[in-house]
Amino acid sequence: METTEARYQSLMRAIARHAPTTDIALVDKAFRFADAKHEQQLRKSGEPYIIHPLAVAEIVVESGLDTDAILAALLHDCLEDTDASFDEIVKLFGRPVAELVEGVTKLTRVNFSTAEEKQMENLRKMFMAMSKDIRVILIKIADRLHNMRTLEYQSPAKQIIKSTETMEIYAPLAHRLGMQKLKWELEDISLQYLEPEAYKEIMDFLAVHKDQDEQFMNAIQTAIQGRLESMGLHGKVYGRIKHVYSIYRKLKNQNKSIDELYDIYAFRVIVNSIADCYNVLGHVHDLFNLVPGRFKDYISTPKPNMYQSLHTTVIGSQGIPFEVQIRTWEMHETAEYGVAAHWKYKQGGAGAGSEKEFEWVRRLLENQQDTVAEDYIHSLRVDMFDDEVFVFTPKGRVVSLPAGSTPIDFAYAIHSGVGNTMVGAKVNNRIASFDVQLNNGDVVEVLTSKSAKGPSRDWLKICRSNQARQKIKQWFKKEKREENVLHGKASFEGELRRMNIDPSVLQNEELLAVILKKVSFDTLDDMYAAIGYGGMTAVKCVNRMRDELLKATKAAPKEPLAPKSLQSLGKKSSGSGNSGVIVEDIGSCMVKFARCCTPVPGDDIIGFVTKGFGVSIHRCDCDNASESLRQKQPERWVRASWAMVLEENFDTSLEIDCRDRDGLLLDMAMVLSGMKIKLREMNCRTLTDGRAIASLTFSIRDVAELNSVCGKLCAVPGVEQVRRGKT
Ligand code: MN
Repeated sequence: METTEARYQSLMRAIARHAPTTDIALVDKAFRFADAKHEQQLRKSGEPYIIHPLAVAEIVVESGLDTDAILAALLHDCLEDTDASFDEIVKLFGRPVAELVEGVTKLTRVNFSTAEEKQMENLRKMFMAMSKDIRVILIKIADRLHNMRTLEYQSPAKQIIKSTETMEIYAPLAHRLGMQKLKWELEDISLQYLEPEAYKEIMDFLAVHKDQDEQFMNAIQTAIQGRLESMGLHGKVYGRIKHVYSIYRKLKNQNKSIDELYDIYAFRVIVNSIADCYNVLGHVHDLFNLVPGRFKDYISTPKPNMYQSLHTTVIGSQGIPFEVQIRTWEMHETAEYGVAAHWKYKQGGAGAGSEKEFEWVRRLLENQQDTVAEDYIHSLRVDMFDDEVFVFTPKGRVVSLPAGSTPIDFAYAIHSGVGNTMVGAKVNNRIASFDVQLNNGDVVEVLTSKSAKGPSRDWLKICRSNQARQKIKQWFKKEKREENVLHGKASFEGELRRMNIDPSVLQNEELLAVILKKVSFDTLDDMYAAIGYGGMTAVKCVNRMRDELLKATKAAPKEPLAPKSLQSLGKKSSGSGNSGVIVEDIGSCMVKFARCCTPVPGDDIIGFVTKGFGVSIHRCDCDNASESLRQKQPERWVRASWAMVLEENFDTSLEIDCRDRDGLLLDMAMVLSGMKIKLREMNCRTLTDGRAIASLTFSIRDVAELNSVCGKLCAVPGVEQVRRGKT
């Protein structure tokens, strides 16, 4: 068991080595404060609690963070687990430190254990969005690393949960932030708990081959080092076995057994200048045989997380391939500690404006260009979240809302029933007004009552999300029955007249009973109300009861658009088949959607009776369905409308005029992916003057959804015009 004293000394040694300018007196003060606060508490291991913050602080020191971060690391569990208050920390250590501690505390409250796959993505985003200061995440990663190192003291169930979280959240975050060293350790420990057999197999294998490996690595190391010296180059050569998780992944991906796997050695040559890097590269290729296609120059083209190095794979005389990475000391620092290394370079500079640091990270995260599209979309792009806010339910579920959302938006995001019976709200356990803007990390609770009067009209002005607005409107539609009945009656009777049926036919009670049954309503008013609020359309009602109505009136309907087609096709019922479209006067017929204008539900449509291929559906405003064309062959044009219930999606396409730039298509794809819309086809024609026309084909529910796609695409930088296109 470790003693507090030993851990404290270890922290002091780390400070002396990595951050000698640190104010030791302040560190000591923070240690004593935290130690007193955690006094009676023990870790699961039985050790005094303070061991944990001391260890976290040491990781923070090794990562190169500044004094404020070291203090915050020592204090990071005080707000959550002791009676220490924010103000107390402000008074003793200053506001910046207190804010770091508070930031870490907020992240601590995130409850991952209920998170599903989909939530993980939100959580990762939220981590970024919540941490106004990137140091908060770095401290949180350090906190997690020490908890992982001491995971053996937790229950088996907890071990699995924590390891999964670490794989899903913390290791990817460490990777994004370029902190390889922490990432590797997080992955290896997680693997140990998630795949104990695989982990053991690899460890055993490495243990058995230890001598052999060392011999091999020494030989290579000596060869390179010798060459450097003989050429008068100053540099250091390190050899290592790749980390366990990366070997595990290679085994899985390449489907090999461990003794077939050669690619487990990596060497690193660290030199003083970039010129030396390329120099050394030449010597390495001279000493060993190059494996073609494996050379990568991350010096001229850094990785998105700022990583720089030359990579090459070569084969020595034993026929074993190995990787050599060549970099400068500064690049090395960045590779090991990523973002954190940044603080090291700016030590002694002007005060740490966390805003500015955040900008830096923001840019870093925006530049993820070598990742494949899907990765890119899933990567942490801070700017993407400017228009989103992430809040919690009291049970810790994350709800994502548009920025500026209020408790009303939250309530309707949970369920319309919750919104409609809402009588009050609590934000972070305090009663809040309905119009308060929610912040990242807020815990929101909705108070409901069965006797609630329902939403008020003012809510429409307060709420921010379309979802809430729509649901509130819907409620008013349903509640305002009288108005709806009047409105529904007018449109139903209008439709009857259009069919040349006198509405007075409805006074025949026998007929009324029959036709109401056809549309499954109890009374005529019920049907009118449904039409009035949009739950049913007048056209559909009339279509369903048409035969009965016609029989009763004994009058042939006048077909305004296609009298001849009626006769020639000789069918009077309507049918939607499986196409989602009702073609009037034609029973089940083959329907296809015109490729020229790709209509989607909500568009005004018209049908064209083709020779032998059923009815082809165009948008009314399609060039191929123009008024003059319709007049040329009136007998072939038939009225069509959308069926009410549409389950399927419809393919449609957009053409986009834009100024061409790198990543434009990717950004557009991201818009669709963000809206969960399936992209079918995408291409881009570049024109001569730096402009381009992109065309996207995707499937969509209806015209409302399409409009919101258009809106979002218009907001993509470079996009100038979006229009309905041709496939
Ligand atoms: Mn902790």
